[in-house]
Amino acid sequence: MPSHRRSSRRPYGADHVPLDVDRARGGLRHVSADDGEWSVRRATGDKTYRCPGCSQEIAAGTPHLVAWLRDGIGGEVAGLEARRHWHATCWDRRARLR
Ligand SMILES: [Zn+2]
Repeated sequence: MPSHRRSSRRPYGADHVPLDVDRARGGLRHVSADDGEWSVRRATGDKTYRCPGCSQEIAAGTPHLVAWLRDGIGGEVAGLEARRHWHATCWDRRARLR
């Protein structure tokens, strides 16, 4: 997994204040969903990704979320290799749908 530079820049609007616990974990969150336990972290890519939530592109340089399954077949290593890049809004919508 490529390392991502830490950035003090906020990935959301300037009026968005991250939760302290989120900040303390370096942006890594754990999310329980119907299909498993996910790790989610913020990222800013240097290339274009395709969001599985809306099938639209995430342009290079756009802050977004990277999500991978921690308890799937093959464990977290396999999950990391199959990690997907999501628009933050699409991931939130997915989380609300569960
Ligand atoms: Zn999307």
